[in-house]
Amino acid sequence: MTSSKTLYEGKAKKIIIGPKKNTLIQIFKDDATAYNKKKHKIFKGKGVINNKISEYIMEFLKSKKIPTHFEKRLNDREQLIKKCQIIPIEFVVRNVIAGSIAKKLGLKEGTKLKKPLLEYYYKEDSLDDPMISRDHVETFGWANRSELKKIDAMSLKINSLLTNLFKKKNIILVDFKIEFGRLASNPKKIVLADEISPDSCRLWDIKSKQKLDKDVFRRNLGSLMGAYEEVASRLGIVH
Ligand code: UDP
Repeated sequence: MTSSKTLYEGKAKKIIIGPKKNTLIQIFKDDATAYNKKKHKIFKGKGVINNKISEYIMEFLKSKKIPTHFEKRLNDREQLIKKCQIIPIEFVVRNVIAGSIAKKLGLKEGTKLKKPLLEYYYKEDSLDDPMISRDHVETFGWANRSELKKIDAMSLKINSLLTNLFKKKNIILVDFKIEFGRLASNPKKIVLADEISPDSCRLWDIKSKQKLDKDVFRRNLGSLMGAYEEVASRLGIVH
């Protein structure tokens, strides 16, 4: 594994300086956390599988003309990415009611939404990532109106592309969280950043509605690695 100074260490990933100007290396760890780190466990091999699933999804999205920070997977745990300034917002897209929205609004988990719902959360662990409005994003300068317009459109496009991709694998894309950044080499350019994996999506088997994502860990529903391997295998990723 590449050894270099850590620029950032998060719950499930670590970022180090890349080999060339304006590049970074994103390293996938085996840690799983939930409820703002109140629950934590290490799953041997989770980082390897998420690295490959996220690579697959980023490559798929790139092939559909979505700009991303992803360059290439370097090895089992590391990806070469373009350096960007992360916009401190978690963009959540929902197709089916689950998780926090079910709890907050007293809605029945599993209810299909008439159209995708886009939500914004301010990325700040010390505040438990509070939900915010579009106006908050602009008022506090986390992104400007034109950036938000681009991000909203990209988020909905990503949702539609991934919904169809997973549907072909008999998986419902219930919801997911994505992040965006401004390229260090060209800050006007907004790209999809971070990762897309079962850590950041809700994925249900189309028939049984079995959960194939981090809810297995959050809710103690059985084997997390079994669920992630099932997703990788349905996507045709040899693990
Ligand atoms: N999510 C995430 N990171 C977060 C919060 C949410 O990846 O810090 C993902 C989560 O896995 C789910 C979606 O965003 O796919 C919506 O999450 P929700 O708001 O329901 O919160 P949860 O109850 O999962 O914390």
